[in-house]
Amino acid sequence: MKTVLITGANRGIGWEVARKLSRADYFVYLASRDREAGEQAAEALRTEGRDNISPVVLDVTDAKSIEGAVQTVTGRSGSLDALVNNAGILGNHPEDGPIPVEEIERVFDTNLFGVIRVTRAFLPLLRKSPAPRIVNVTSELGSLALQSDPQWMYGRFKSEAYPPSKAALNMYTIVLAAELEEEPFKVNTVSPGYTATAFNNYRGTKKPEDAAAVIARYATLDDDGPTGGFFAEEGKVPW
Ligand code: NAP
Repeated sequence: MKTVLITGANRGIGWEVARKLSRADYFVYLASRDREAGEQAAEALRTEGRDNISPVVLDVTDAKSIEGAVQTVTGRSGSLDALVNNAGILGNHPEDGPIPVEEIERVFDTNLFGVIRVTRAFLPLLRKSPAPRIVNVTSELGSLALQSDPQWMYGRFKSEAYPPSKAALNMYTIVLAAELEEEPFKVNTVSPGYTATAFNNYRGTKKPEDAAAVIARYATLDDDGPTGGFFAEEGKVPW
């Protein structure tokens, strides 16, 4: 049975990716920073008849908790076929005035540095898979091309925190894919689209299960699938 670890999988899009991949017969490490939330999320999948789920504590901003998760996966599986770097935050924006630099740092610590920490920690286990896949969950809000188009429908969202963090994540994906190009990895940055989750007070227009299908597609790519790309449901997204 193939294995996947999904960060921030206790709710929202991450939970739906866990659900989808467990149904596709992956053994799912459902990672959450809060132990109880992870256990409840895993239990919700077990009540649907899935027993190929293991909750694992993982805070992407905490190196020790990442190391603990690596040890859990090492002990149980000895390798990892897919890593979905899904955990992400928007950041808190004050009603008036600029967003504090400390808050921008917090957003980058989760959305960029967290992904780098988790990816580096799991690379040895991914290298033991014959066909490792990495999906970095991004947003079109991190597209330089779309954000610089005055006609773009979401272009009004120009926070100093979230869009720059996802633009940096996209660049990291290019760098990582290049670093791994001689190995059988597929590394892509994938936007789920504007989805109804707690992230946006459920204002998104897509259902989480449809968003999860896009992420799952790139976590389960065939050997002839793309690497080093930026994708959404409709296909390629301009950088
Ligand atoms: P969500 O419902 O708010 O879920 C976010 C998940 O990330 C939660 O499980 C949260 O855990 C976890 N998380 C936050 N900080 C973490 C940390 N330090 N360590 C580990 N986990 C952490 O949001 P979502 O809509 O499912 O978003 C999932 C991903 O999709 C994010 O990367 C987001 O940027 C991206 N995205 C979302 C949309 C959208 O419209 N919803 C659009 C484009 C991209 P807690 O429950 O403990 O807070």
